[in-house]
Amino acid sequence: MRYAELYERSVTDPQSYWAEQAQLIDWHAPFSQVLDASRPPFAKWFVGGQTNLCHNAIDRWLETQGDLPALIAVSTETADAAPAEKIYSFRELHAEVQRSAAIMLSLGVTRGDRVLIYMPMIAEATIAMLACARIGAIHSVVFGGFAANSLATRIDDARPKLVVSADAGSRNGKAIPYKPLLDDAIRLAKHQPRHVLLVDRGLAPMTLVQGRDLDYASLREQHLDAQVPVTWLESNEISYILYTSGTTGIPKGVQRDVGGYAVALASSMQTIFCGKPGEVYFSTSDIGWVVGHSYIVYGPLIAGMATIMYEGLPVRPDAGIWWSMVEKYRVTRMFSAPTAVRVLKKQAPEFMKKYDLSSLKALYLAGEPLDETTSQWISSALGVPVIDNYWQTESGWPILSIARGTDDSPTRLGSPGVPMPGYKVRVIDESTGDTCAANRKGVVVIDWPLPPGCMQTVYGDDARYVDTYWSRFGGQQVYSTFDWGIRDEDGYYFILGRTDDVINVAGHRLGTREIEESISSHPNVSEVAVVGVEDKLKGQVAVAFVVPRNADAVATPQARQAFEAEVMGVVDRQLGTVARPARVHCIGLLPKTRSGKLLRRAIQAICEGRDAGDLTTIEDPASLQQIRAALAG
Ligand code: ATP
Ligand code: MG
Repeated sequence: MRYAELYERSVTDPQSYWAEQAQLIDWHAPFSQVLDASRPPFAKWFVGGQTNLCHNAIDRWLETQGDLPALIAVSTETADAAPAEKIYSFRELHAEVQRSAAIMLSLGVTRGDRVLIYMPMIAEATIAMLACARIGAIHSVVFGGFAANSLATRIDDARPKLVVSADAGSRNGKAIPYKPLLDDAIRLAKHQPRHVLLVDRGLAPMTLVQGRDLDYASLREQHLDAQVPVTWLESNEISYILYTSGTTGIPKGVQRDVGGYAVALASSMQTIFCGKPGEVYFSTSDIGWVVGHSYIVYGPLIAGMATIMYEGLPVRPDAGIWWSMVEKYRVTRMFSAPTAVRVLKKQAPEFMKKYDLSSLKALYLAGEPLDETTSQWISSALGVPVIDNYWQTESGWPILSIARGTDDSPTRLGSPGVPMPGYKVRVIDESTGDTCAANRKGVVVIDWPLPPGCMQTVYGDDARYVDTYWSRFGGQQVYSTFDWGIRDEDGYYFILGRTDDVINVAGHRLGTREIEESISSHPNVSEVAVVGVEDKLKGQVAVAFVVPRNADAVATPQARQAFEAEVMGVVDRQLGTVARPARVHCIGLLPKTRSGKLLRRAIQAICEGRDAGDLTTIEDPASLQQIRAALAG
């Protein structure tokens, strides 16, 4: 069926559309109701149906492709950066997950209990997630880069009975001990997990707390032949909790269901990602993020694909590492983030040419705005279409993209695409709440009910869920994405930044993202961040931090001054003088999270002489020093 028809059906007759999509997964008991819409803004999908994510990801494939690869774990965090691989067939993964599940059961973890997973990108992390799913425990994966404080907050919010962790992660060949951090976090937390299960990679010494800390390998030995049957869950039981990145504030515990999520992923693997059983899929994300949950672990496996889990940098041992994996494993679909592509773009182009990439059909990018230059560069370097997709931790799967599994709808540069099935997306005027005319900027919202797979609520806090997401526009049942956007006359959407990133200059409300886009059009601008800084006279002024493409061209104070004037001139011409930044600073590196999101909040705090706040997800703390130096200079 073509996209337009499919989409139309999904929004005019969602019940029949999703009942049909539900056939893509296995049900132990059929659902009695497709959608329970009795308590808006909540929505319950596939009420009464019984299923299990682990069953659909593994057991379901045993008979037809038990010996094909399911999980391919590759690490270049080895002494010599040579890739080390560990491949699990569906059968092997099945056995391994049951061992892990048996350990959890032996530690008293049962249905509904929370298990916090604080792990590097190693196979055991995925195995632990699937083990939780198998026995109906609720996993909460916390990104391995988080420090003690952030981890403690999440421990107190999720109140896990068990924590699964490891001695250390590794980055650029250097061990990063996890255990001391975890100990600190547990000391800081009010809630105390009963047990901590530790994978010992032999990377860093560990001091075990008697009675609490346990060695994974020795317990595994005791459960080698474990057979742990799947626990069938009602569709609306909780599968996991995952905290949002916290780019704009305190992270929210996104709670997800079982049946709706499984169906949404299975459906998206067909309509968007075009995944076929037996093929190999590679997402460069981390299991600590939502992309890792949906499109490293559950999505590909539910579609019967092998999934690659990669621990390492995209440029080590060299910038060809990803492409060597595409060649070796015959990857058909790849998923990454614009920020990672920009890193590769700084490297010599021949790294891609060295490998046979003929298996690759498309590259999917998400997480932040995809600029045209990056998109065109990677598309022509790889010779495959690049598919932008826009979504959130909250949605769990793409809201806007191009449904390549349905027809060859063209992509449009700068746009993540059109609404995916079930999402009634609109752009509405912030003050009146009316739907905006084509090409008019407003807030991107989604009409209730959200399709299957989206968050059920904020974990343990229904009121915060309603309040945060559903109360912005008075009487309307609309979910706010907190992103600005426009819809063009053909129905393509463009994302213009976050509503939180608005600054107010002398009464004019300006999106920092728009100013950034304008500045980016200057030929010597590689990257830019614009923040609003308190100003006695104007309330706020825009301040820009630019990473020049060619740093030599701005090496002298005179050259920097001339450059600053040019940049201001560009903004004057494109947006008007009200948007002109008060200062343009040149720096070598912007502060970003490990998932590539700009830490505007931290930059702004430093500009205003405040504490930079929670910085545990920062990629490189040196970037903040650069901001301070630029301001001082
Ligand atoms: P928090 O909500 O805690 O501040 P966060 O919004 O950074 O954290 P995520 O859910 O990981 O956490 O990010 C979702 C956001 O990322 C979107 O709301 C949007 O701003 C941005 N985003 C994601 N994909 C795209 C895309 N393809 N194009 C533009 N922006 C995107
Ligand atoms: Mg968000």
